[in-house]
Amino acid sequence: MIELNNVSKWYGTFQVLDSCSTRVDKGDVVVICGPSGSGKSTLIKTVNGLEPFQQGDITVDGIAVGDPRTKLSALRARIGMVFQNFELFPHLTVRQNLTLGQVKVLKRSDEEATEKGLKYLDRVGLLAQQDKFPNQLSGGQQQRVAIARALAMDPIAMLFDEPTSALDPEMINEVLDVMVGLAQDGMTMMVVTHEMGFARKVADRIVFMDHGKIVEDSPKEEFFVAPRSERAREFLARII
Ligand code: ADP
Ligand code: MG
Repeated sequence: MIELNNVSKWYGTFQVLDSCSTRVDKGDVVVICGPSGSGKSTLIKTVNGLEPFQQGDITVDGIAVGDPRTKLSALRARIGMVFQNFELFPHLTVRQNLTLGQVKVLKRSDEEATEKGLKYLDRVGLLAQQDKFPNQLSGGQQQRVAIARALAMDPIAMLFDEPTSALDPEMINEVLDVMVGLAQDGMTMMVVTHEMGFARKVADRIVFMDHGKIVEDSPKEEFFVAPRSERAREFLARII
């Protein structure tokens, strides 16, 4: 579904990604972890064309992301992305947040978009909040709305960039529970997170990054029991 082949990227002279290769098969969950500044956010953003890259290639469902002829807006419409800071539209209600992209990008009717949006809002347990504005919700609720909004676009894959790291501890699980449910339903997911409980539960593979390189790309059993690199061992010892 998603394949990265020797992807390199520079900011000026600073190399932020160094020959990164990995793949995510349909229905798989790949967790990306590693120290701050190692390039995790940059890597995940290259997948839906939010960050350009200079070398290598990326294909998503057969579409070449780096090809100048590829319509990135069409690609992005098919890949859901959830960020650390929710990024809901503050001036729109929850229901309007859920329908806007469907109507504008997918050209669905208001009726169809509302029906679909509310279905996913119900799924994340927030149907009763549909008329509220984002600032009237807790951080955990806002993130669940952001996930519902992404799902309402019928994505072929979901990308998450530290979706729980801005949340108070008591709200982390309500968001992780939604993500575990998605994983168990067979969604293809790339998730940057340090929540190793989540990784243990649903990840198929763990990618460990350091200084722009993919240092380790292993089945989770292997990664947790016997990480191959010293850097991954140190990292795990610090966060678990
Ligand atoms: P992570 O998500 O693993 O913390 P990032 O992908 O955000 O790492 O950043 C990787 C490196 O690239 C960091 O050293 C960061 O300072 C640098 N970086 C990120 N964005 C930019 C940018 N727009 N311009 C220059 N350097 C950047
Ligand atoms: Mg990051």
